[in-house]
Amino acid sequence: MEPQYQLIIIGSGPAGMTSAMYASRAEVKTLILENAAPGGKMVKTHLVENYPAFESITGVDLSMKMHNHSLAFGAVYQYGDVVNIIKENGVFSVHTADGSVYTSKAVIAATGTIERKIGLDQEDELVGKGVSYCAVCDGAFFKNREVIVVGGGDSAIDESLYLTQFVSKVTVVMRRDVFRADPGTVARAKENPKIHFVYNHTPQEIMTEGGLVSGLKVKSTETSEEKIVKGAALFPYIGADPATKYLKSLSVLDEWGYSQVNDYMETKITGLYTVGDMNQKHLRQIVTATADGAIAAQQAIDYIIKN
Ligand code: NAP
Repeated sequence: MEPQYQLIIIGSGPAGMTSAMYASRAEVKTLILENAAPGGKMVKTHLVENYPAFESITGVDLSMKMHNHSLAFGAVYQYGDVVNIIKENGVFSVHTADGSVYTSKAVIAATGTIERKIGLDQEDELVGKGVSYCAVCDGAFFKNREVIVVGGGDSAIDESLYLTQFVSKVTVVMRRDVFRADPGTVARAKENPKIHFVYNHTPQEIMTEGGLVSGLKVKSTETSEEKIVKGAALFPYIGADPATKYLKSLSVLDEWGYSQVNDYMETKITGLYTVGDMNQKHLRQIVTATADGAIAAQQAIDYIIKN
């Protein structure tokens, strides 16, 4: 039986959207399946200042521009939470959580990563009551309040800067005194009078008052002394893990769940490509994700024509 689509793209972050744009422009019948808003991590980012041609653009605006571009040549965009992929007789069946099955000749997986949780007691229950993994979504609820960010990477420092437009104070808790974030961004954060750093402390316990977050108990990695950092909100930005569970049965992942591809974004399953942050790679940026997306789409187009 002929598959429904020539290409299915799973995920519509910058990598998936670029693949969709390239493939549909080459007149490949393309379906994009996405289980959240288009843009992926980008749509939850306040400002993007390192994507060429845009000196400064909000993550939401760049996401919408890419989304519109990804659909400009006829790709179909649909909600779908992919739970499994099976390849049989040269055709991929892509299964979604609601029981639907979509078939295609080739698949490009572009599902990125999921924010890591600290693993503290009540961390899940307090989401919406002060714990948030998205400053862009929830920062404005904490106008003139003190808030806490955990982490020293680009996400933590970028989002701390974003939060300063609403809140009275951001305390950034870091387990070391070494940043992973871009030095320029760190310098801006250090100059900002609303941002304070607590180095060499690990989170121990979320403090609450009346069922809402009121602070974070932290412990010194040097003296083991504990203290409480005040804050009505806790934003953990401690990295992310690949969102790749649905690929487990195909054995294309490393021990941490990242996908292993060659320079052409090919996995060891012919016709299956993976792109963006879910791949084993050195630099996770919007620009590297879009590059992956273009490379994979070109390979998929060649594969579809030949098979
Ligand atoms: P990241 O770079 O991995 O940084 C994670 C931070 O969280 C580190 O400071 C880490 O400390 C800390 N951490 C990890 N586990 C912790 C724990 N259990 N308790 C306390 N702290 C903990 O993660 P990210 O900031 O989410 O960035 C992910 C990727 O996206 C990176 O490649 C980043 O460059 C990229 N990104 C880029 C931009 C940009 O270019 N503007 C923006 C956002 C993200 P240690 O250092 O001690 O491990």
